[in-house]
Amino acid sequence: MSKHAGISRFTYNWGLETWQALYRSGLKPNHLVLKKFFNNHVKPVLTWIKEKGICQKVTEFAFDNLGKAFKNFFDKRGNYPRFKKKGFNDSFSINAGGKPIPIGGTRIKLPTIGWVSTYEGLPHTTTKKLTISKIAGDWYISCSYEIEAQPTSKKETYVGVDLGIKTLATLSTGIIFINPKALKKAKKKLSKLQRQLTLKVKGSNRYKKQKLRISKLHRRIANIRKDATHKATTFICKNHAVVALEDLNTSGMLKNHKLAGAISDANFYEFRRQIEYKVVRYGVQVIFVDRFYPSTKKCSNCGEIKPMSLSERVYVCEKCHHTADRDLNAAKNLENYARLAKPCLDVEG
Ligand SMILES: [Zn+2]
Repeated sequence: MSKHAGISRFTYNWGLETWQALYRSGLKPNHLVLKKFFNNHVKPVLTWIKEKGICQKVTEFAFDNLGKAFKNFFDKRGNYPRFKKKGFNDSFSINAGGKPIPIGGTRIKLPTIGWVSTYEGLPHTTTKKLTISKIAGDWYISCSYEIEAQPTSKKETYVGVDLGIKTLATLSTGIIFINPKALKKAKKKLSKLQRQLTLKVKGSNRYKKQKLRISKLHRRIANIRKDATHKATTFICKNHAVVALEDLNTSGMLKNHKLAGAISDANFYEFRRQIEYKVVRYGVQVIFVDRFYPSTKKCSNCGEIKPMSLSERVYVCEKCHHTADRDLNAAKNLENYARLAKPCLDVEG
């Protein structure tokens, strides 16, 4: 699997380098042209890629990923693609030449590579493509497969969801999802481990061991965060018929360095990604409210608008004297927006 990851990295980097060279000479490259050139003129002489036991689809997917990376960059959803380094996010994708790959249980037969055992059991189904990655010393398999939608009966019709930095999410119904305490603890430990790393000789065995400890803790932090986000998004989608979320321009916000750390923390992007697939699964309508809609500045009771500084935690309306927690007021405004956008649903209750 390391060999496959190496080939994937080599191909991706070759593609990126060639892309840049073509661009500099005034041409407009794309990943399909690069893929074709690579297959016809470069790959035939690279005997180590054609070795027995290597899935030849790896290089194709590497070009597809490069194409996606550039598309994200052009669509302003990501940074300019960077060269891959050995040992950093090692990964590759394979398929079975378009044929469905059976998965299920705790063993899986990877195309070309062969049988591997998995720690977690998979549902019995098929998939078309597998992505294998190495995170903190362990290998992970990810794939997509089709499932039936499971619409749930909803307790509430409308809900507005305000995503925060201090709290994970505030619902207009008054329910609050806080950031897990374990996250704070793990982060404290992380800075301790990082301090210890500076005392070790670079390249030594102790240094490497410490590095692995750090990446394992990074993985744990990511998992804690993801788990909390999953709990919130599942609750929201199972219990509400219409969900209104702010359409945050995360990439724009990340440029504001002061806020950047806190925002990537609150993982708005991941929250939205989960909502987007769970609304389909549980039969929910989702409304992304324009990011210029003044959800924070508006009074959720009378509609009056006033400026709010970042430090103001409570909204106090000067017109109707309505008082509410800043996040709750914003969530209520998002709910009101949803009511106006999808009014017919209110009749059904
Ligand atoms: Zn008011």
